[in-house]
Amino acid sequence: MIVNMSAGATKEQINHVMERIKECGFLPHLIEGAERTVIGVVGKNRGRRSEVESLRVAPGVEDIISISQPFTLVSLELQPERTVVNVKGVRIGGPDLVVIAGPCSVESRDQLLQTARAVKASGAKLLRGGAYKPRTSPYDFQGLGEEGLRILREASEETGLPVVTEVMGIEDLDAVVEYADMLQVGARNMQNYPLLRKLATVPRPILLKRGPSATIKEWLLAAEYLLSGGNPNVVLCERGIKTFDSELRNTLDLAGVALAKELCHLPIVVDPSHATGRRSLVPAASRAAVAIGADGIIVEVHPCPERALSDGPQSLDFPGFQAMMDAMPTSTIAMAAATR
Ligand code: PEP
Ligand code: MN
Repeated sequence: MIVNMSAGATKEQINHVMERIKECGFLPHLIEGAERTVIGVVGKNRGRRSEVESLRVAPGVEDIISISQPFTLVSLELQPERTVVNVKGVRIGGPDLVVIAGPCSVESRDQLLQTARAVKASGAKLLRGGAYKPRTSPYDFQGLGEEGLRILREASEETGLPVVTEVMGIEDLDAVVEYADMLQVGARNMQNYPLLRKLATVPRPILLKRGPSATIKEWLLAAEYLLSGGNPNVVLCERGIKTFDSELRNTLDLAGVALAKELCHLPIVVDPSHATGRRSLVPAASRAAVAIGADGIIVEVHPCPERALSDGPQSLDFPGFQAMMDAMPTSTIAMAAATR
């Protein structure tokens, strides 16, 4: 449920409604918009709904509406203004298209520093790279762990690019928080609820990848875990889902990006590398993502993809990344206007 306060509602009236919501067994979540205040009513199945509905006649309340979806805090119905997530000065969800680039895995200091310099020169705004890698086979390269984090930090300090890297488990969280500017929840972990609960309490923005078999609703509910636990700085990432087709690594759900933007106020980026698994398709998939409304893209780039320890076939080399960037719009608004 959402309580819409009237434009002239006083602080006392708002506080009274917040108190009553708590007394009814729910948690109130205050959103102070430019024009009016709205209060999300969340939590606890055993809260007394009908008593909250009676608040419709309380002073300062304009309306109470039931939300049609199971999520509340991520809902555009609750917060019509789109969220902009600030990652150390880089704003995701604003008018500028944000390109995040870097290798799948941090493999060495040289590999990462070279890549960081190259992607920065081509216009990337954030550096990606995995230090803890979720690999399908236990025999594959598992990442450099904390050494990888230190290398990421060094590259960030040299280039000024903030760093996003995956946190696979609660046991790695302190280390990742120490070194990274944004924490990635990998696709395989989207429904790791103890991890999401913990990430809700860390002072870092989260990049929440969609699980390969997750519905849009499950994805947005995973984001709801983060917001309801206290972390409003969440960027969603569509990275391809599993379908019957085996030609592509995954299937890029572009309409799902548009739908998620219709339902929710969080920014969304698209990962064309994992979504396609093929280097040749990454530039076209990136342009399509921006055309359908993505706020950014996250792309794998490697100095020598044929030598990559993970995801070489989908990684762009430096000239390939530069060529892709040359053909990308820099503003999400210009692209949306051109395709309207
Ligand atoms: C990655 O970003 O390298 C990665 C492992 O992504 P995903 O979780 O989407 O598979
Ligand atoms: Mn990868």
